[in-house]
Amino acid sequence: MEPVQAVVQDGRGRIWIRGRQTLLALAGFEAPVEDLSASLPGAAVQKGELYLDRTGRVWAPTNHGIAWFDGPRRGLIDTSRGLTNEWATTVMVDREGSLWVGSEGVQRLQGRLAWTSFTRRQGLPSDTVWAVLRDRNGTLWAATNSGVAQAKQGGWVTLPMSRDRSFYAFAQSPSGDLWIGGNSGHAGTNTLLVRTHGASNFRAVSLGSAVGPSTVNSLAFGPDGALYVATLAHGLHRLIAKGADYTSGAVVLPGGDAKEQINQLAIDRAGHLWVSSKRGLAVFDGHHWHRLDASDGLREQEIETITPADSNSVWVSYWNLTGLTLVRITDSGAVISTQLTRPEALVADTIYSAGLDRKGVLWLGTAMGIKRFRNGVSERFGQSDGLPGEDAAANGFWGDADGDVWFGMANGLAHFSARNDVALAPPPTTVITGLQDGHSRLLSATIPSVPWKDRALTFHVAALGFLYPGRVQRQVRLLGLEDAWRDTNVSESRFTGLLPGSYRFQARSRYSDGVFSAVASRAVVILPPWWLTWWFLTLAAMACGLLAVLAVRSRHAHLHRKNLQLEALVADRTRDLLIANAAIEESSMIDPLTGLKNRRYLDAFMPEELARCIREIRSNMSRKPAERHRNIDLCVFMVDLDHFKSVNDDHGHAAGDIVLQQVGVVLRKACRESDMLVRWGGEEFLILARNSDRCQVQALASQVCEAIRQHPFDLGNGVVLRKSCSLGFAAFPLLPSKPDRFGWDQTLKLADRCMYAAKRSGRNAWVGCLLQDNVPVPADPTPGMLHEIDGYGPCRVVSSFPEGHALHW
Ligand code: GH3
Ligand code: MG
Ligand code: MG
Repeated sequence: MEPVQAVVQDGRGRIWIRGRQTLLALAGFEAPVEDLSASLPGAAVQKGELYLDRTGRVWAPTNHGIAWFDGPRRGLIDTSRGLTNEWATTVMVDREGSLWVGSEGVQRLQGRLAWTSFTRRQGLPSDTVWAVLRDRNGTLWAATNSGVAQAKQGGWVTLPMSRDRSFYAFAQSPSGDLWIGGNSGHAGTNTLLVRTHGASNFRAVSLGSAVGPSTVNSLAFGPDGALYVATLAHGLHRLIAKGADYTSGAVVLPGGDAKEQINQLAIDRAGHLWVSSKRGLAVFDGHHWHRLDASDGLREQEIETITPADSNSVWVSYWNLTGLTLVRITDSGAVISTQLTRPEALVADTIYSAGLDRKGVLWLGTAMGIKRFRNGVSERFGQSDGLPGEDAAANGFWGDADGDVWFGMANGLAHFSARNDVALAPPPTTVITGLQDGHSRLLSATIPSVPWKDRALTFHVAALGFLYPGRVQRQVRLLGLEDAWRDTNVSESRFTGLLPGSYRFQARSRYSDGVFSAVASRAVVILPPWWLTWWFLTLAAMACGLLAVLAVRSRHAHLHRKNLQLEALVADRTRDLLIANAAIEESSMIDPLTGLKNRRYLDAFMPEELARCIREIRSNMSRKPAERHRNIDLCVFMVDLDHFKSVNDDHGHAAGDIVLQQVGVVLRKACRESDMLVRWGGEEFLILARNSDRCQVQALASQVCEAIRQHPFDLGNGVVLRKSCSLGFAAFPLLPSKPDRFGWDQTLKLADRCMYAAKRSGRNAWVGCLLQDNVPVPADPTPGMLHEIDGYGPCRVVSSFPEGHALHW
C-alpha cells in the first residue's frame, strides 16, 4: 500500500482514502471496501488530494483532469471540458458553485456541472448546431452545419451521407422512422434523410413537390399521419408513404402561397399541427386549417418559434418583437389568451428557440444566452456558466425525459444537467469597505461623529463574489435622508450638504435579476454647527420670545395712545354733531322770511308751557281771592293782515315779502320781550303773551293794531304802503276755575273765531273773548256778552269797535 495522502468523509458518510494512484471508499466496517482507483485516470500524481464540497461531492485532482464522485455518479473534468492544464494538484468548489483548480496557477470554472458544452473538440462535425433530438432508442442526434452526428460512447459519430450539408430539422414518426431535413446542398432537389424503423441505414427521399434547391426548416408529423415539411422559400409540403416510396405535395395555407416562408412546425399535446410563418400562425386539426394573424391579436405577422404549452395551446415568439404570446385553440378556433411582455429580463432579447422541460419550465434560446423562467423569476445562463457561446440557434431546443435540456447554438451544443442543477446563484456579499469624511479621512469608529464642516461623506461599497462581475447591480440608500433604494453603478456613494442628525447608510447587491444580498449597514452621526446646537437654539428662542413680548407691549402702548386720541376725536365730533343738530333743529323752527318762530316751534314748546301755566293757575286758584296773582294768564293773539293779497297783486310777491318782514319787526317792537311771536302761516301771526292779566290784555291788542296801522311799509322803490290788521284774542286757560275744561287747541280756535269776527265785522279792529265762569247765560244776552259760541258757554266779548257796532261771527 502506497502512502495515504488524504482521508475525507462524504455526504453519505462514506470514508474516502486517497493514495497517489489509489482511491478507496468505505461505507462502514460491515460493507466491502469499494476500489475506485480505476476512476483516477493517468499516471501517479505528486499529491493525492481529496476535496469534499458542501453538497457532499468528493473531488480528486489527477494528472489527467479532476475526477468527481457524487453517490453512484462520477465524472471527469479534463481539457475537453475547458481545463487549461491536463494535471491539477488541488481543487475546490466555492460558495457560488464555481470550481477552482490549482495547477500552473489557478483556474476557475463556473457552473461546469450544470452545463456541459460540445464542440468539434468533442467530435461534432461543426460548432454550429441547429437541431437536437433523442430517438426512441435513447440515441442523441445533433444536426449541424456540416452534417448530422449521433452521440456514442467516447464521442460523436457523423453520418457519412450527411457530411458537407447543413441540417436543421428532425422528426420521428409514431412508428419510429427518423427523418432529417436540411439544405439541399449541391443537389437540384432537396432530399430528406430517413431511417425507417428497424433499418440500420438512412436513405434519401426526394422532396419532389418543392421545385429547385430549397432549405427545410422544420419537420413534424401531423394529425393526419403525414410528414409536414417546412421550407424557407417553397412553402409547406406534405409527404406520405406510397408503397415502399413516398410522394410529396405542396400545402398552401389559407391566405398564403407556394412561396411562403415557413419557420417552424410543432405538435401540441392534443395533436394539432401548428405552423409559424412570415404571415402569421396556422393550425391544423386533421381536417381544417385555421390561420391567425395580427388581426387576431398576434403582435406582429412574422412568427418565429412555437412551443407547445398544455394540450391546446402554444407559446409563440416573434421575428422582430420581443415577448411571447400564448395562443389557445378552442371549439370556435384559435384565440390569443396571454401576452407575456414581462419580466423585462426574460423577454429583452430576440428569442430563437424555446421549449418546456419535463417539469413544464420554459426555456428560451436567445441572442444573449439561454434563459429559464421559473416561478416568475428569469435566470440567464451565459458563457461563464459553461455555455459554448451566447448565440442560440433557431429551433434548436430539445428537452429530455429526465429533465435535461439541450440547446443547439452557434458555437456548439449546450447540455443542461437537471441533476447538477444548483440553486440560483447566491447574491454577492455586500460590504461597506470604508467611510471617508470631507477631508478624505477614513472614519474608523463604529458610529463616527462627523463635525459639521467635514460632513461631505463618501461610503465605499464592495459586492464580493466571483460569478458575474459584469452583472453586479448595487443599491444604496441613506436612511435619515431617503427611504427608497437607489441603483448605482459605482462602488462609492457621496453625500454632501447633510443636515445634522443620525444616519444609517445601507447597501445591497445582486447578480442581474437575482435576489439581493443581505443589507450592509454603517451608521454615522453628523454633529450640528454651533449655531444649530441646542444651547444656542434655546438662547435664540428665548431672545425671540423676549423680543416678541417687548414688541407686543410697545404695540399695546401705541394702540392705547391711538385709542385715547380716537376717543377724544369722537367726543369732539359728537359735540360738533350735537351743535349742528341743534342748529338744524332750531333753523327748522324759524321762519326764514321773518326770522320769527314757526308753528313747529310752537308744537315743541307748548306742552311744557301749558303744563307750567296750568300748574300756576291751579296754585293761584287755591289761594284766597284777595291773594291771587293776576299776571298768570297766557294770552293768545291771532293777527291777520287786511287785504294783503292786494299787495301781491298790485306790487308783486317780493313786495308782499317785504311787507311781511316789516310786520315781523313791527310786532316785535309792539310786544314785550317775554312775549313769543310766531308766524302762523301766510300773512297770519300769533302772539303769545305769557304772564299776562286777561283783564289788561285789550291794551296790548290796541297797541298791536295801532303799531301796524302807523307803520309806513316802505317797499324800497319809493312806494310806501299803509296796512291794517284784524286781531282776535283769547286767554288760556279759557276757564281759570276749570283749567282742564278746554284745551289749548280750543283756545287757539276761539282766538281765530275772534279774529274772523273782527274781519267780518269791518276789519282794522280787534275782538276778544273771555269765558265767564258761574254766570248764568241770560235769555236775552246783553251786547258784549256772547254766549254759547260753539259750545264754549257764556263769555264776555270785547272789541275795538264802537259801542253798538254789531259783530258778525
Ligand atoms: P283779508 O282782509 O280777508 O284777510 O284779505 P287778504 O287779502 O289779506 O287775505 P287772503 O286770505 O284773501 O289772501 C292772503 C294772501 O296772502 C294770499 C297770498 O298770496 C298772500 N301770502 C301768503 N303768504 C305770503 C308770503 O309769504 N309772501 C307774499 N308775498 N304773499 C303771501
Ligand atoms: Mg288771511
Ligand atoms: Mg288777510
